[in-house]
Amino acid sequence: MSTMPAAFVGHGNPMNTLESNRYTDDWTAFAASFEKPSAILAISAHWYINATAVTSMASPRVIHDFYGFPQELFDFDYPVPGDPQLARHVGEIVDPVWVGLDDETWGIDHGTWSVLAHMYPDADVPVVQLSVDASKPLDYHVDLGSRLAPLRDEGVLIIGSGNVVHNLRAVDWRAAEHGFDWAQRFDDDVSSLLTKDPSSLGEILASDDFRLAVPTPDHFLPLAYLAGLASASAATPTLFARGCTLGSLSMTSYAI
Ligand code: ZN
Repeated sequence: MSTMPAAFVGHGNPMNTLESNRYTDDWTAFAASFEKPSAILAISAHWYINATAVTSMASPRVIHDFYGFPQELFDFDYPVPGDPQLARHVGEIVDPVWVGLDDETWGIDHGTWSVLAHMYPDADVPVVQLSVDASKPLDYHVDLGSRLAPLRDEGVLIIGSGNVVHNLRAVDWRAAEHGFDWAQRFDDDVSSLLTKDPSSLGEILASDDFRLAVPTPDHFLPLAYLAGLASASAATPTLFARGCTLGSLSMTSYAI
């Protein structure tokens, strides 16, 4: 089996689940560009807790973790199987980092299913989610990402799902295809770092735009996993689905 890609996907508005646009088209095209994986390890911005854990249930529930969206989004189902064996395996390969096995609390959240709905609409590839540990600094997430690299040779697709720029307070619903100057600048600065040397992602913490672009770390940190995976593989991330939307969200996605 050939080495699987790994990616960070900007998921944006949950309505992308049901819509078809240039971003979702790029997600579909990305999945079509390589063989179907045996399983997916998803690192979603929306499982942001004070622990490092993986979902280990055989049938993860579908979590609708948002408010104020149309009923059809709450009715959306993504009945994908879990992969308890992969969950335990993740804990083994990242040792001595400790990973808790969650067989009852979480499931598959919209950071994961909004993207997979377009990549694998038949929900036929088992999914394990890895939490984003809110108690840890950026370096921890980059390091943990690098430890996951062996999974790529075992047929596992690793996807981080968040947004490089994610400031909901600044969202301008009239600016569908537009990013504020600071959002675009920050997005460009991140891509410069990642495509030059993915291990240098931490330099972005010094950016004057960081506080506006990353008011909370949840949506940014899944990108650290891609940076770690790229460093471990001496790979240079390439961009897809590039651009900002609603003023203060970046949809820019990366793959190796
Ligand atoms: Zn989100």
